[in-house]
This record gives sequence, structure tokens and C-alpha cells, in this order.
Amino acid sequence: MKGILQDLTYDELCSLVSSLGAEKFRAQQTAQGLAKGKRITDINIPKALKEKLLESYEDEPVHILETYTGADGTEKYLFRLADGNVIEGVLMKYKYGNTQCVSTQVGCRMGCRFCASTLNGLTRNLTAGEILSQVLVVNALHTDGKNRGVTNIVLMGSGEPLDNYDSTVRFIRNVSSETSLNISPRNISLSTCGLVPQMRRLANEGLSVNLTVSLHAVTDEERARTMPIANKYSIREILDACSYYFSKTGRRYIFEYSLIDGENSEPEDAKALIQLLKGRPCHVNLIRLNEVKERTLRSATERKAQAFLKALTDGGISATIRRQIGADIGGACGQLRASYLQNSRDADE
Ligand code: SAH
Repeated sequence: MKGILQDLTYDELCSLVSSLGAEKFRAQQTAQGLAKGKRITDINIPKALKEKLLESYEDEPVHILETYTGADGTEKYLFRLADGNVIEGVLMKYKYGNTQCVSTQVGCRMGCRFCASTLNGLTRNLTAGEILSQVLVVNALHTDGKNRGVTNIVLMGSGEPLDNYDSTVRFIRNVSSETSLNISPRNISLSTCGLVPQMRRLANEGLSVNLTVSLHAVTDEERARTMPIANKYSIREILDACSYYFSKTGRRYIFEYSLIDGENSEPEDAKALIQLLKGRPCHVNLIRLNEVKERTLRSATERKAQAFLKALTDGGISATIRRQIGADIGGACGQLRASYLQNSRDADE
């Protein structure tokens, strides 16, 4: 497989371009073209340089295979990578801007029982440039004279970002660079199932990304029923790592809590959650489980979700219920890819 130009930092791109015998401003032109989501073929640089780059680098690392538009304007994309693997992503449109949800791995090996991304295990990590290119191509589609493109990024697509640590951090540095999309880390949220050592390492990177942790339970035993990672790291260790993150970055952290019928959404669960989180600089994002057809877990009712929210806020915890967006277009992580894989299997038979 060829290399991926979008993996490189601006300095690395400058060294590459000069090693190919071109002048420095050609690196600048190349970076500008890449930031506009262009293929190498379409960048405005001399033909000789283009040909040299194409010898070693993928022309189009991420190609939009399909776009689905939901009733609420949410767009869901199926992307094809240069090696033929497919991944997915979502663009959510809000008043304040556009948030893109990106994937960090092809599949996932964390095994959460409610999640579609993990149905076929992990195929491979994405490179930093493959994560970046998802944003570059979608941003290009949505940027014109009056419209801003992608303004916020959430690392909440398929994959566990901290299980692909180096590429994820490189991606955050590159996408926030002025020579790329200049999206501030403050507008980037990283969601993890709770890989404690990497959470601590991230705290020391000097990046002000928003840390989001998928909690989904109030005791380790309950958590282990849906999230195998709970056998490795306890909720206590996760909370300590969150405190460390706050002490290093000053950033309040967020917990994701998907309300699953009969698992974690009873009044006593709310009470226990208040005990766990009271006094912490955090926010809780409740979401009614997005039901995945291959999985048996069911969502808590809207009434239960509202009661859970009220209990938390009455108990002094900052919390909101996340709007279920794009549910009509396979909004839950990994659903689109799973159905794509299923369809291609059916077509082969
Ligand atoms: N691996 C990371 C990011 C992936 S998904 C993590 O675990 O945080 C982003 C969020 O969606 C996580 O909180 C994940 O637990 C949650 N999620 C996955 N499948 C879901 C589903 N079917 N319904 C509701 N939330 C889901």
C-alpha cells in the first residue's frame, strides 16, 4: 500500500517536497490543496511534482461511496479507503455549526454488547491521514462563500480512539494546524470506553480536547455485563484518570450514559450515579439506546429517560438527554458499515 500524504505534518510535507527537488512554496500549495479536500491529481502544482507524489502516495485515501440524508438534515456517509475497507461517519447540523463524527478504526475490538462497530471485531487501525481525510472531504462538500464547513469534530464513530493512540493524537494536531483546517482542539471531543493509562497520557499532551467517557453503568459488575473493558479498569480508576485530566487541562469532562432497558435506567441507578459524580466538574449525556438489530438489548422508554434526567438534575448533576439524531439513517456507530457488509455478503451468496 502507498503512503498517505495527509498523515504528514506541515514540516514533514515541506521536507518531502524539497527532497523531491521542488521549491518550498510548492509545499504550501500542496497543503492548501489537501486542506480543500482535493486529490493529489487535482492540486494546483507542476505535473512533475504531482507525478512524483503519486508514485508513493495515495491519490484519494478516503472516497465518499454513499451519502444518506436524514429527515432532520443529518448526513451519514459510507467511505471507501484505498485498500477497499469501508468506514462510516456522520455530519450533524446545529445552529452553531456542523459537527462531524469520525471513525478511528475499521471495526473495533472493545466488544461492547450494545454497539454495532464491534460486531466483526477489529480489522485495522486508521492512519492519522485517513481520519483527517474523512473531515477534509466532508468539509469540502459543505464549504462555500457563505457556509462554514465542519466546525466541530467528535471522535465517536467506529473504533476506540485511545486504542489507536498515536494516529488519533497526530490527527488532532494536524487538523488543528493553521496549514490544515485550523479546527481548535477545544472544538474536538474524544470519546473513550475508558482506557485508563491512555487517558492519563492524553492529559499530558498539552491538547485541550474535550474528554468524554462511556460509562453506561454505576458499578463495575453492572458495567462488565455490557462492556468487557470493565474487567480491566474499574470505575474508580476511570474517575481518578478524569480528575487527573481536569487537573492538567482545566477541562470539564463528560460521561456518556446510554439508557438500556432493565440494565441501568432504574431510579436506584440514578441515585448511585449521583453518589459517584457529585461535586465533580462533569456533565452527563444521557442517550436512549439506539437499538441495533443484531443485538438483544433494548432502549429504556422515553418516560424512564425523562425520570432519570430529572433525578440527576434534582441531585445536582449537570445532565442532558441527547437528541436521537439520524436514527432513521442508521445513526448508531457501526450500523451503516454492518449493514453494508451484510449486503455485500448477501450479494456474494
Ligand atoms: N469507542 C469510543 C467511541 C465510540 S462510540 C467509546 O466507547 O466511547 C460513541 C458513543 O456511542 C459511546 O458512548 C458508545 O458507548 C455509544 N454507543 C455505541 N453504540 C450505541 C448504541 N447502539 N446506542 C447508544 N449509544 C451507543
